[in-house]
Amino acid sequence: MSLPYKISTLLYAFNSEGKVLLLLRKKEPNLGLWSPFGGKLKMEEGESPYMCACREAEEEIGIKLSPSDLHLTGIVSEHGYEGASHWLMFLFRIIPPIDRIPPANNEGEFAFFSRDELENLPLPQTDREMIWNLFWEHQWGFFSAHCHCCEGGKNIWTIEESIKDASALSLLEKQRLAVSRLAELRDKDNDKAVFQNPSGENEPVIDLNSHHYFMGEALRQAVKAAEMEEVPVGAVIVRKGKIIARAHNQVELLKDGTAHAEMLALTQAQAAVGDWRLTDCTLYVTKEPCPMCAGAMVNTRISTVVYGAPDPKYGAAGSALNILQFPSLNHRCSVISGVRLEECRALLKSFFLDKR
Ligand code: ZN
Repeated sequence: MSLPYKISTLLYAFNSEGKVLLLLRKKEPNLGLWSPFGGKLKMEEGESPYMCACREAEEEIGIKLSPSDLHLTGIVSEHGYEGASHWLMFLFRIIPPIDRIPPANNEGEFAFFSRDELENLPLPQTDREMIWNLFWEHQWGFFSAHCHCCEGGKNIWTIEESIKDASALSLLEKQRLAVSRLAELRDKDNDKAVFQNPSGENEPVIDLNSHHYFMGEALRQAVKAAEMEEVPVGAVIVRKGKIIARAHNQVELLKDGTAHAEMLALTQAQAAVGDWRLTDCTLYVTKEPCPMCAGAMVNTRISTVVYGAPDPKYGAAGSALNILQFPSLNHRCSVISGVRLEECRALLKSFFLDKR
């Protein structure tokens, strides 16, 4: 059949609850049906599928993505779709969670649905009979499928590639990447994530307003430590708006009294930067650093230290002593204290209460 070949991208966006964002389409193809959003590749501009996906995300849901925010889950080719054209579709899973319903646009309106809710939705035929199943099975892996659309609406499917790589580890890794990528999405000028909606007005939707957000990431690390019966302290190091190191206390696990969250994070950060000088880095830690860690922060020339709960007994950022700003040392760190203080303190408190 001599038909035009069209190339498109479909984007599968999820919120933090794991619900998928679908578009009730008010245009053909798929008028009146719920499907992932996306659109045709600008072939005349030589657009790549990834570039097309990023552009569609910005145009349709107003969020700026880069190719590293996308996982190519599958490729579907459709032969003779509705007798009118052949289609080649690239299915991308957007890695960072999208937590707001974008406003309706001229393509249609949006809503989030759980996997179960899809059963009762009007869906395009190929989505219902094959693509959703393939998507769920391969969302962190890869598949390639071909659909031969026959006259009379019957479809013959061939699965040409199937890699169901959904190991817990790779999933976790991708989610971690997602979080650090979120940090990068911050708008350079006002230090806030910007969700540019298609009407043109800028509206921050993800509160990445740095100290609160990054301390949240340190808190997540601290929770991990608590789960492993370690003193719940977590740290992250941020450079140019991006997390380059995350660690939690591992003294018990490593049987190493120096394996404090900050020490481990500093080592990671030096490896990431490729230098022992961390002059343009900010370290976030849930508890005021001890003298050892404060000393290490001075030695690695950390620019700013942000901590949550003070430690009147051992705190070396001003509570018991002030190593971070010791006058005769050749480097002094800026110090910001009390960020998400209650949460940081509560975590430590509950841990020590448990121990008694
Ligand atoms: Zn320490």
